[in-house]
Amino acid sequence: MQVDKDLIIIGAGAAGLTVPQYAARANLSVLVIEEMAAGGQCLIIDQLENYPGFPEGLSGFELSQKLERQAKNFGAEFLIATVKGVEQQSSSETTPYFTIDTTAGTLNSHTVIIATGAKHRTMDIPGEKEFTGRGVSYCATCDGPFFKEKRMLVVGGGDAACDEAMFLANLTDRIIMIHRKERFRAQRSLAQRILNNPHIEVRFNTELKEISGTDRVEGVKLYNNKEKKLYSEELDAIFIFIGSIPKSRIIEGLELDEAGYIITNQKMETNIGGLFSAGDVRSTPFRQLVVAAGEGAIAAHSISQYIDELKGEAYI
Ligand SMILES: Cc1cc2nc3c(=O)[nH]c(=O)nc-3n(C[C@H](O)[C@H](O)[C@H](O)COP(=O)(O)OP(=O)(O)OC[C@H]3O[C@@H](n4cnc5c(N)ncnc54)[C@H](O)[C@@H]3O)c2cc1C
Repeated sequence: MQVDKDLIIIGAGAAGLTVPQYAARANLSVLVIEEMAAGGQCLIIDQLENYPGFPEGLSGFELSQKLERQAKNFGAEFLIATVKGVEQQSSSETTPYFTIDTTAGTLNSHTVIIATGAKHRTMDIPGEKEFTGRGVSYCATCDGPFFKEKRMLVVGGGDAACDEAMFLANLTDRIIMIHRKERFRAQRSLAQRILNNPHIEVRFNTELKEISGTDRVEGVKLYNNKEKKLYSEELDAIFIFIGSIPKSRIIEGLELDEAGYIITNQKMETNIGGLFSAGDVRSTPFRQLVVAAGEGAIAAHSISQYIDELKGEAYI
Protein backbone atom coordinates (compact mmCIF):
# COMPACT_ATOMS: atom_id res chain seq x y z
CA MET A 1 0.00 0.00 0.00
CA GLN A 2 1.47 3.37 -1.08
CA VAL A 3 0.88 5.92 1.67
CA ASP A 4 0.96 9.61 0.56
CA LYS A 5 2.47 11.17 3.71
CA ASP A 6 3.93 10.26 7.09
CA LEU A 7 1.79 12.96 8.68
CA ILE A 8 -1.27 14.95 7.70
CA ILE A 9 -2.15 17.94 9.88
CA ILE A 10 -5.76 19.11 9.76
CA GLY A 11 -5.86 22.84 10.49
CA ALA A 12 -3.25 25.56 9.98
CA GLY A 13 -3.65 27.49 13.23
CA ALA A 14 -0.86 28.04 15.74
CA ALA A 15 -0.96 24.35 16.74
CA GLY A 16 -0.84 22.92 13.22
CA LEU A 17 1.75 25.43 11.97
CA THR A 18 4.22 24.62 14.76
CA VAL A 19 4.33 20.92 13.94
CA PRO A 20 6.36 20.99 10.69
CA GLN A 21 9.58 22.34 12.18
CA TYR A 22 9.72 19.44 14.64
CA ALA A 23 8.46 16.87 12.13
CA ALA A 24 11.17 17.97 9.67
CA ARG A 25 13.88 17.14 12.19
CA ALA A 26 12.49 13.62 12.28
CA ASN A 27 12.52 13.57 8.47
CA LEU A 28 8.76 13.08 8.18
CA SER A 29 6.84 14.07 5.07
CA VAL A 30 4.13 16.53 6.10
CA LEU A 31 0.98 17.93 4.52
CA VAL A 32 -1.11 20.66 6.19
CA ILE A 33 -4.77 20.84 5.13
CA GLU A 34 -6.54 24.14 5.79
CA GLU A 35 -10.02 25.16 4.71
CA MET A 36 -9.70 28.93 5.15
CA ALA A 37 -6.35 30.71 5.53
CA ALA A 38 -3.21 29.84 7.48
CA GLY A 39 -3.33 31.37 10.95
CA GLY A 40 -6.77 30.32 12.17
CA GLN A 41 -8.17 32.40 15.03
CA CYS A 42 -4.81 34.19 15.34
CA LEU A 43 -5.64 36.09 12.14
CA ILE A 44 -8.34 38.12 13.89
CA ILE A 45 -6.29 39.14 16.95
CA ASP A 46 -5.64 42.84 16.66
CA GLN A 47 -2.68 43.25 18.99
CA LEU A 48 -0.86 40.34 20.61
CA GLU A 49 0.94 41.20 23.80
CA ASN A 50 1.56 37.80 25.31
CA TYR A 51 3.24 35.71 22.65
CA PRO A 52 6.82 35.09 23.82
CA GLY A 53 9.68 36.72 21.94
CA PHE A 54 7.85 39.86 20.83
CA PRO A 55 8.22 42.40 23.66
CA GLU A 56 6.77 45.22 21.53
CA GLY A 57 3.81 43.05 20.56
CA LEU A 58 2.67 42.22 17.04
CA SER A 59 -0.60 41.70 15.23
CA GLY A 60 -2.14 38.24 14.94
CA PHE A 61 -1.94 38.61 11.17
CA GLU A 62 1.83 39.18 11.32
CA LEU A 63 2.35 36.19 13.60
CA SER A 64 0.21 34.01 11.29
CA GLN A 65 2.37 34.95 8.32
CA LYS A 66 5.57 34.19 10.23
CA LEU A 67 4.25 30.81 11.39
CA GLU A 68 3.18 29.86 7.86
CA ARG A 69 6.53 30.92 6.36
CA GLN A 70 8.42 28.97 8.99
CA ALA A 71 6.33 25.82 8.35
CA LYS A 72 7.02 26.11 4.62
CA ASN A 73 10.74 26.68 5.25
CA PHE A 74 10.74 23.36 7.09
CA GLY A 75 9.30 21.59 4.06
CA ALA A 76 5.60 21.34 4.88
CA GLU A 77 3.26 21.19 1.90
CA PHE A 78 -0.12 22.94 2.08
CA LEU A 79 -3.50 22.05 0.63
CA ILE A 80 -6.51 24.35 0.75
CA ALA A 81 -9.49 22.02 1.30
CA THR A 82 -12.03 21.03 3.93
CA VAL A 83 -11.54 17.71 5.64
CA LYS A 84 -14.92 15.97 5.66
CA GLY A 85 -13.89 12.87 7.57
CA VAL A 86 -11.06 10.58 8.60
CA GLU A 87 -11.10 6.79 8.74
CA GLN A 88 -8.56 4.41 10.21
CA GLN A 89 -7.58 1.50 7.99
CA SER A 90 -5.92 -1.37 9.74
CA SER A 91 -5.73 -5.09 9.38
CA SER A 92 -3.10 -7.67 10.24
CA GLU A 93 -1.92 -7.74 6.61
CA THR A 94 -1.54 -4.02 5.88
CA THR A 95 0.37 -1.10 7.31
CA PRO A 96 -1.92 0.90 9.63
CA TYR A 97 -2.88 4.19 7.96
CA PHE A 98 -5.64 6.79 7.74
CA THR A 99 -7.73 7.88 4.77
CA ILE A 100 -8.57 11.58 4.82
CA ASP A 101 -11.61 12.54 2.82
CA THR A 102 -11.35 16.16 1.65
CA THR A 103 -13.15 18.46 -0.76
CA ALA A 104 -10.05 18.09 -2.97
CA GLY A 105 -10.06 14.28 -2.98
CA THR A 106 -8.97 11.44 -0.71
CA LEU A 107 -5.48 11.27 0.74
CA ASN A 108 -3.80 8.87 3.10
CA SER A 109 -1.13 9.05 5.77
CA HIS A 110 0.44 7.00 8.54
CA THR A 111 -0.51 9.56 11.19
CA VAL A 112 -2.92 12.48 11.60
CA ILE A 113 -3.01 15.50 13.90
CA ILE A 114 -6.40 17.08 14.45
CA ALA A 115 -5.65 20.76 15.05
CA THR A 116 -8.98 22.12 13.88
CA GLY A 117 -9.48 24.63 16.72
CA ALA A 118 -12.86 25.96 17.64
CA LYS A 119 -15.57 28.27 16.30
CA HIS A 120 -17.55 30.97 18.13
CA ARG A 121 -20.58 30.00 20.20
CA THR A 122 -23.91 31.65 19.40
CA MET A 123 -26.53 32.78 21.93
CA ASP A 124 -29.62 31.54 20.11
CA ILE A 125 -31.77 34.47 21.20
CA PRO A 126 -34.42 36.30 19.13
CA GLY A 127 -32.85 38.56 16.52
CA GLU A 128 -29.33 37.08 16.68
CA LYS A 129 -29.47 35.08 13.47
CA GLU A 130 -31.57 37.67 11.68
CA PHE A 131 -29.12 40.52 12.35
CA THR A 132 -25.84 38.62 11.95
CA GLY A 133 -23.83 40.70 9.48
CA ARG A 134 -26.23 43.61 10.01
CA GLY A 135 -24.98 44.76 13.38
CA VAL A 136 -24.38 41.43 15.12
CA SER A 137 -20.76 40.26 14.89
CA TYR A 138 -18.37 37.71 16.40
CA CYS A 139 -15.17 39.47 15.31
CA ALA A 140 -14.27 42.99 16.41
CA THR A 141 -11.25 43.36 14.15
CA CYS A 142 -13.29 42.30 11.12
CA ASP A 143 -16.43 44.39 11.72
CA GLY A 144 -15.55 47.00 14.36
CA PRO A 145 -14.37 49.65 11.84
CA PHE A 146 -17.88 49.71 10.29
CA PHE A 147 -19.22 51.08 13.57
CA LYS A 148 -16.75 53.90 14.29
CA GLU A 149 -18.15 56.39 16.83
CA LYS A 150 -21.33 54.25 17.19
CA ARG A 151 -23.00 52.69 20.24
CA MET A 152 -21.74 49.16 20.80
CA LEU A 153 -22.53 46.27 23.10
CA VAL A 154 -19.91 43.65 23.96
CA VAL A 155 -21.15 40.37 25.43
CA GLY A 156 -18.83 38.08 27.41
CA GLY A 157 -16.35 37.98 30.25
CA GLY A 158 -13.40 35.89 29.10
CA ASP A 159 -10.07 36.77 27.47
CA ALA A 160 -11.49 37.00 23.96
CA ALA A 161 -14.33 39.33 25.05
CA CYS A 162 -11.94 41.64 26.94
CA ASP A 163 -9.37 41.59 24.16
CA GLU A 164 -11.98 42.50 21.56
CA ALA A 165 -13.57 45.17 23.78
CA MET A 166 -10.15 46.84 24.14
CA PHE A 167 -9.88 46.96 20.36
CA LEU A 168 -13.39 48.42 19.98
CA ALA A 169 -12.63 51.07 22.61
CA ASN A 170 -10.23 52.60 20.06
CA LEU A 171 -13.16 53.12 17.69
CA THR A 172 -15.81 54.57 19.97
CA ASP A 173 -16.27 55.87 23.49
CA ARG A 174 -19.78 54.43 23.74
CA ILE A 175 -19.33 50.76 24.67
CA ILE A 176 -21.48 48.85 27.11
CA MET A 177 -19.89 45.55 28.12
CA ILE A 178 -22.13 42.99 29.81
CA HIS A 179 -21.27 39.75 31.59
CA ARG A 180 -23.81 37.46 33.22
CA LYS A 181 -21.56 36.75 36.21
CA GLU A 182 -20.38 39.02 39.02
CA ARG A 183 -16.80 39.33 37.76
CA PHE A 184 -14.78 38.72 34.62
CA ARG A 185 -13.20 35.34 34.01
CA ALA A 186 -10.43 36.89 31.85
CA GLN A 187 -6.83 37.16 33.04
CA ARG A 188 -6.68 39.70 35.85
CA SER A 189 -4.50 42.31 34.11
CA LEU A 190 -6.72 42.31 31.03
CA ALA A 191 -9.91 42.53 33.11
CA GLN A 192 -8.42 45.46 35.03
CA ARG A 193 -7.68 47.32 31.80
CA ILE A 194 -11.32 46.97 30.81
CA LEU A 195 -12.49 48.30 34.17
CA ASN A 196 -10.10 51.26 33.87
CA ASN A 197 -11.07 52.13 30.31
CA PRO A 198 -13.21 55.30 30.22
CA HIS A 199 -14.76 54.23 26.88
CA ILE A 200 -16.26 51.05 28.36
CA GLU A 201 -19.16 50.90 30.79
CA VAL A 202 -19.17 47.47 32.45
CA ARG A 203 -22.43 45.94 33.65
CA PHE A 204 -22.08 42.68 35.56
CA ASN A 205 -24.99 40.28 36.27
CA THR A 206 -26.46 41.30 32.95
CA GLU A 207 -27.70 39.10 30.11
CA LEU A 208 -28.64 39.81 26.52
CA LYS A 209 -32.18 38.57 25.89
CA GLU A 210 -33.30 39.99 22.55
CA ILE A 211 -31.99 41.96 19.59
CA SER A 212 -34.32 44.19 17.60
CA GLY A 213 -34.28 46.53 14.62
CA THR A 214 -35.68 46.97 11.13
CA ASP A 215 -32.91 46.63 8.50
CA ARG A 216 -30.12 46.75 11.04
CA VAL A 217 -29.66 46.42 14.78
CA GLU A 218 -31.35 49.25 16.61
CA GLY A 219 -31.69 48.01 20.15
CA VAL A 220 -31.56 45.20 22.68
CA LYS A 221 -33.38 43.91 25.71
CA LEU A 222 -31.04 43.38 28.66
CA TYR A 223 -31.82 41.50 31.87
CA ASN A 224 -30.25 42.26 35.23
CA ASN A 225 -30.27 38.81 36.84
CA LYS A 226 -29.58 40.18 40.32
CA GLU A 227 -32.36 42.74 40.38
CA LYS A 228 -34.55 40.58 38.07
CA LYS A 229 -35.12 43.58 35.83
CA LEU A 230 -35.65 43.58 32.05
CA TYR A 231 -34.92 46.84 30.25
CA SER A 232 -34.21 48.22 26.75
CA GLU A 233 -31.12 49.93 25.36
CA GLU A 234 -30.66 51.62 21.97
CA LEU A 235 -27.56 50.37 20.13
CA ASP A 236 -25.92 50.12 16.69
CA ALA A 237 -23.74 47.02 17.00
CA ILE A 238 -23.40 43.91 19.15
CA PHE A 239 -20.21 41.92 19.49
CA ILE A 240 -20.67 38.46 21.02
CA PHE A 241 -17.77 36.53 22.60
CA ILE A 242 -19.22 33.82 24.80
CA GLY A 243 -16.85 30.96 24.18
CA SER A 244 -16.27 28.44 21.47
CA ILE A 245 -17.32 25.06 20.14
CA PRO A 246 -14.59 22.54 19.23
CA LYS A 247 -14.44 21.27 15.65
CA SER A 248 -13.82 17.73 16.79
CA ARG A 249 -16.40 15.60 14.97
CA ILE A 250 -14.12 14.26 12.28
CA ILE A 251 -13.65 10.56 12.99
CA GLU A 252 -15.84 7.85 14.54
CA GLY A 253 -14.84 6.45 17.92
CA LEU A 254 -12.78 9.44 19.07
CA GLU A 255 -12.92 10.03 22.82
CA LEU A 256 -14.31 13.50 23.67
CA ASP A 257 -14.99 15.29 26.95
CA GLU A 258 -18.48 16.50 27.98
CA ALA A 259 -18.10 19.72 25.99
CA GLY A 260 -16.91 17.88 22.87
CA TYR A 261 -13.17 18.62 23.17
CA ILE A 262 -10.75 15.82 22.20
CA ILE A 263 -9.20 13.90 25.09
CA THR A 264 -5.50 13.06 24.75
CA ASN A 265 -2.72 11.93 27.07
CA GLN A 266 0.25 14.21 27.72
CA LYS A 267 1.88 12.98 24.51
CA MET A 268 -1.15 14.39 22.59
CA GLU A 269 -2.19 10.83 21.66
CA THR A 270 -5.92 10.23 21.32
CA ASN A 271 -7.57 6.90 22.06
CA ILE A 272 -7.01 5.94 18.38
CA GLY A 273 -3.47 4.76 17.61
CA GLY A 274 -1.65 7.09 15.20
CA LEU A 275 -4.19 9.89 15.70
CA PHE A 276 -3.04 12.92 17.69
CA SER A 277 -4.58 16.27 18.60
CA ALA A 278 -3.28 19.71 19.63
CA GLY A 279 -4.51 23.22 20.31
CA ASP A 280 -7.95 24.64 21.08
CA VAL A 281 -9.80 21.53 19.90
CA ARG A 282 -8.13 19.51 22.68
CA SER A 283 -9.49 19.17 26.19
CA THR A 284 -7.18 21.56 28.05
CA PRO A 285 -7.59 24.10 30.87
CA PHE A 286 -5.98 27.01 28.97
CA ARG A 287 -6.50 28.00 25.33
CA GLN A 288 -3.84 30.38 24.10
CA LEU A 289 -1.46 30.62 21.14
CA VAL A 290 1.59 29.65 23.13
CA VAL A 291 -0.23 26.59 24.51
CA ALA A 292 -1.40 25.56 21.03
CA ALA A 293 2.13 25.94 19.66
CA GLY A 294 3.60 23.94 22.57
CA GLU A 295 1.09 21.16 22.08
CA GLY A 296 1.90 21.08 18.35
CA ALA A 297 5.58 20.55 19.23
CA ILE A 298 4.75 17.72 21.66
CA ALA A 299 2.50 16.03 19.09
CA ALA A 300 5.25 16.19 16.44
CA HIS A 301 7.74 14.64 18.85
CA SER A 302 5.31 11.84 19.78
CA ILE A 303 4.59 11.15 16.12
CA SER A 304 8.25 10.73 15.28
CA GLN A 305 8.45 8.10 18.05
CA TYR A 306 5.29 6.40 16.76
CA ILE A 307 6.66 6.27 13.20
CA ASP A 308 9.96 4.85 14.52
CA GLU A 309 7.96 2.08 16.20
CA LEU A 310 6.16 1.32 12.92
CA LYS A 311 9.54 1.16 11.22
CA GLY A 312 10.84 -1.12 13.98
CA GLU A 313 7.98 -3.47 13.27
CA ALA A 314 8.94 -3.26 9.57
CA TYR A 315 5.60 -1.69 8.72
CA ILE A 316 7.13 1.18 6.72
C1 LIG B 1 -10.81 37.29 19.61
C2 LIG B 1 -9.72 36.41 20.14
C3 LIG B 1 -8.65 36.95 20.81
C4 LIG B 1 -7.62 36.12 21.29
N1 LIG B 1 -6.55 36.70 21.93
C5 LIG B 1 -5.50 35.92 22.28
C6 LIG B 1 -4.32 36.50 22.84
O1 LIG B 1 -4.22 37.72 23.03
N2 LIG B 1 -3.28 35.67 23.15
C7 LIG B 1 -3.33 34.32 22.95
O2 LIG B 1 -2.34 33.63 23.21
N3 LIG B 1 -4.45 33.75 22.44
C8 LIG B 1 -5.53 34.50 22.11
N4 LIG B 1 -6.65 33.93 21.58
C9 LIG B 1 -6.73 32.45 21.52
C10 LIG B 1 -5.91 31.89 20.35
O3 LIG B 1 -6.27 32.58 19.17
C11 LIG B 1 -6.17 30.39 20.18
O4 LIG B 1 -5.85 29.74 21.39
C12 LIG B 1 -5.32 29.79 19.06
O5 LIG B 1 -5.50 30.52 17.88
C13 LIG B 1 -5.70 28.33 18.84
O6 LIG B 1 -4.95 27.81 17.79
P1 LIG B 1 -5.34 26.42 17.12
O7 LIG B 1 -4.28 26.14 16.11
O8 LIG B 1 -5.58 25.40 18.14
O9 LIG B 1 -6.76 26.63 16.43
P2 LIG B 1 -7.31 27.71 15.36
O10 LIG B 1 -6.55 28.98 15.42
O11 LIG B 1 -8.78 27.74 15.58
O12 LIG B 1 -6.99 27.02 13.96
C14 LIG B 1 -7.67 25.89 13.49
C15 LIG B 1 -7.63 25.89 11.97
O13 LIG B 1 -8.23 24.68 11.49
C16 LIG B 1 -8.99 24.96 10.33
N5 LIG B 1 -10.00 23.91 10.18
C17 LIG B 1 -11.01 23.62 11.05
N6 LIG B 1 -11.74 22.58 10.61
C18 LIG B 1 -11.17 22.20 9.43
C19 LIG B 1 -11.47 21.18 8.49
N7 LIG B 1 -12.49 20.32 8.68
N8 LIG B 1 -10.70 21.08 7.37
C20 LIG B 1 -9.65 21.91 7.17
N9 LIG B 1 -9.32 22.91 8.05
C21 LIG B 1 -10.07 23.04 9.16
C22 LIG B 1 -9.60 26.34 10.63
O14 LIG B 1 -9.98 26.99 9.44
C23 LIG B 1 -8.43 27.04 11.34
O15 LIG B 1 -7.61 27.76 10.46
C24 LIG B 1 -7.69 34.72 21.10
C25 LIG B 1 -8.80 34.18 20.42
C26 LIG B 1 -9.79 35.01 19.93
C27 LIG B 1 -10.97 34.41 19.19
